[in-house]
Amino acid sequence: MDKSQILKEFSADPEKYYNVKLFQEQGFIRKACAKCGRFFWTLNADRDLCPDDGTDTYSFIGEPPTTKRFDYTQAWKQVEEFFVKNNHTSVSRYPVVCRWRDDLYFTIASVVDFQRIMGSKVVFEFPANPLVVPQTCLRFKDLENVGVTGRHFSSFCMIGQHSVPDLGGYWKDECVDLDFRLLTDQFGIKKEEVVFVEDVWAGGGSFGPSLEYFVRGLELGNAVFTEFQGELGQHSTLDQRVIDMGAGLERFAWITNGTPTAYDCCFGPINEKLFNTIGIDSDSEILKKYFTEIAKEIDHYDDLNDVRRLAIKNAGITDEQLNKMITPLEGIYLIADHLRTLIFAITDGALPSNVGGGYNLRMMLRRINGTINRLNLKLDIDDLIDTHIDYLKDTYPELDEKREDVKTILKLESSRYEESKIHMKKKAEKIREKGAPSVDELITLYESDGITPEYLKEVDAITEIPSQFYSKLSDLHQSEKKKVITELPLEELPETETLFYKDDPMEFEAKVIKVFDDQVVLDRTSFYARGGGQEPDLGSIAGFKVVNVDKHANIIVHKLEGGVPSEGDTVTCKVDETRRANITKNHTSTHIINASSRKVLGSWIWQHSAFKDDDHARLDITHHSSLSDNEVKQIEDEANDMIKKNYPVNIDYYDRGTAEQKYGFRIYQGGVVPVKSVRIVSIEDKDIEACGGTHVKKTEDIELIKITKTKRIQDGVVRVEFVSGPTAFQYVKQQEEESKQKVQDNIAKQALEKLREENKDKAREQIPILLEKVLAGESGEIDGITVSNKICFTSSDSYDDYFHQNFGKKLTSKDDTAAYCGIFEANPTIRVMVFSGEKSGVNAGEIAKEISTILGGSGGGDAKFAQGGGKDTSKKEQAIAKAKSMILG
Ligand SMILES: [Zn+2]
Ligand SMILES: [Zn+2]
Repeated sequence: MDKSQILKEFSADPEKYYNVKLFQEQGFIRKACAKCGRFFWTLNADRDLCPDDGTDTYSFIGEPPTTKRFDYTQAWKQVEEFFVKNNHTSVSRYPVVCRWRDDLYFTIASVVDFQRIMGSKVVFEFPANPLVVPQTCLRFKDLENVGVTGRHFSSFCMIGQHSVPDLGGYWKDECVDLDFRLLTDQFGIKKEEVVFVEDVWAGGGSFGPSLEYFVRGLELGNAVFTEFQGELGQHSTLDQRVIDMGAGLERFAWITNGTPTAYDCCFGPINEKLFNTIGIDSDSEILKKYFTEIAKEIDHYDDLNDVRRLAIKNAGITDEQLNKMITPLEGIYLIADHLRTLIFAITDGALPSNVGGGYNLRMMLRRINGTINRLNLKLDIDDLIDTHIDYLKDTYPELDEKREDVKTILKLESSRYEESKIHMKKKAEKIREKGAPSVDELITLYESDGITPEYLKEVDAITEIPSQFYSKLSDLHQSEKKKVITELPLEELPETETLFYKDDPMEFEAKVIKVFDDQVVLDRTSFYARGGGQEPDLGSIAGFKVVNVDKHANIIVHKLEGGVPSEGDTVTCKVDETRRANITKNHTSTHIINASSRKVLGSWIWQHSAFKDDDHARLDITHHSSLSDNEVKQIEDEANDMIKKNYPVNIDYYDRGTAEQKYGFRIYQGGVVPVKSVRIVSIEDKDIEACGGTHVKKTEDIELIKITKTKRIQDGVVRVEFVSGPTAFQYVKQQEEESKQKVQDNIAKQALEKLREENKDKAREQIPILLEKVLAGESGEIDGITVSNKICFTSSDSYDDYFHQNFGKKLTSKDDTAAYCGIFEANPTIRVMVFSGEKSGVNAGEIAKEISTILGGSGGGDAKFAQGGGKDTSKKEQAIAKAKSMILG
């Protein structure tokens, strides 16, 4: 949809779209900007320019337009107090990890809290109407601006003011009136300072007019009136019109304080702490001047580096001031901002990693670490985490609970960064030689080697970070596209009655509604269709084998083998009961393993994915490291403890909004639930999930869980494979047998070793006797030695190093036509030793070299004596054959 086209249309009829009651009451005048032509509303008759182009832009720095000063947390108290006083419900923030949408990793706006996807449609579900929410939003597009521009954050608090007019809420007039009074009455900003700019919003198939409100060039909020759907011209009014007013809390604090940057009044005591470490006075005139210049110029250039250069020039910053003040200051703001974002994200269960949204988090921590190193700062990250949380916990008490988890994760990630530095250094050197990499090359470097452009800058491999780097990376990792299921022509068919959610009979009668080749649709079924990682039920329909069951929307399709019944038939259906019982045990076990992993490992454990078949199951969990044997044992013990306690497994249906409010977003372990009524499976308060699978009635029914294998399958994800019920007992039995076998094997091996040792001792005593026989001209097999005309070869286990040395040496010194070659195992290698008398015609060196090569090693020596060997024991037979033919011919 072309936004400028919509704006043109709406602005052509301002009475209809923009002229609210407040404008008339207060006498606002509508004007077109003399510079850019945009329409705006003001009480100041002399004003000719819109806020972006006005001469008062950012003049609040150093001279705030309010008599009261509110920092970040105080500003929220003011906002909350105002809206609650005006009949709004104040709702707690939603997680920054957007579990209820599968097209977003992170919550990017307050309205996202209340959006649920149903099919291809976005629906709104508000827990109260009207409401206000302090929603922490994460955005990684402008990462390069953070710390530099004075107003960009990687996470910020969006004050969300939402109202549904047709369900008892209000519409435009009251919204704009409230926002105006929030600024003027609550924050004490003069009426003449407030400017409203006409704009539009469009997205997700709907659109509407919006009024952005500015004070001294700073956009404080944007009231969007989502009103229409469809294409402009053919559009219709939405069934559910929504007010989506989003305002930046950080900016509210900033405008009342007039500090050089918004960072100065939003991070609490952490800034002061950081300033002290580098000795900067953040209140200096030069900083005010510099950041005012940055603020004024930022929208006029594409490249931030150009803006920075211009501001340095205009503010008259010397090189020394740049190095001693601006650069460290930017670094400090970056650290404070990024750390705050990481605290929110980790508290809400995200982990820095190489995948999905974790990319952005790892990038942020690497930027923090890189900045600390570059500026040579002595900082205690744990202490900074405490400072942030202590400041924020009044508004966000949940941060306090996860304090230690945040520290654990960040410590681990930082040490990984340090470890990877040697590798990064080598890469950086190559880059320095090759010359500046492109944006795409930089992205590849980060994605495959974890090398951030900050690091490259830190080690002088590049001079500047290209301005598109972060926006491009963020685009790549903002969301993942979901797969499309192949469609059968099912539109006309009725919804299948799902018996597995009712009486769940293992044998039932049903009517054949439709047949597609080998696929059958029934009016009702007890066959559980593949879904949520649970494998389908098998069995028979009308005597034909059921080989697969899939769900397409609300219709269940059975795939048969060997034939199909006819449409209209009433058929007898049998579900394979044992298979179903085993799958069911494995499914409940997945929930139990999830809960016990979370208890043993930490709050960051979420289900990443799961798979439940009848004879095995696996749960992939979000965790930062491989599991130790001890951790695996603890998880298994904890799981079996839950079985022993025989907790009931309860299934209840809730309205989605109610379930979310009652249990939080932890219920979405298996991902988004695209239905209004949510099936909640709870095992006491140990594990509560929205889940459509089959479950046992009480945990004791599972009998036993055994973890068979764990593996770190990707960065940030650990796979736990396990078995339960009868399979677990079989597994235990098998393990016992295997270990019994191992013991027996060991005993046999030891006996063999002992025998060999005895033989070796015996062999040593035999040396003079054997020598005598060979020198006397005996041929053939003599005690495992093949002899032919005094040329000897052996690969017998009975002979060792000592024997070969002594026998070979003595033989060839007594008779120069004799030769000797022995191959033997000397753990972990196979060795070869060759002696040859001068007239034997055997070249010891050649043989040793050749045989060693076969064994993957090397050999050395001369024509008379040589030895060697190699570790490739699989080539033993080949080496023996070769040696034998080389020496004996
Ligand atoms: Zn303008
Ligand atoms: Zn489940």
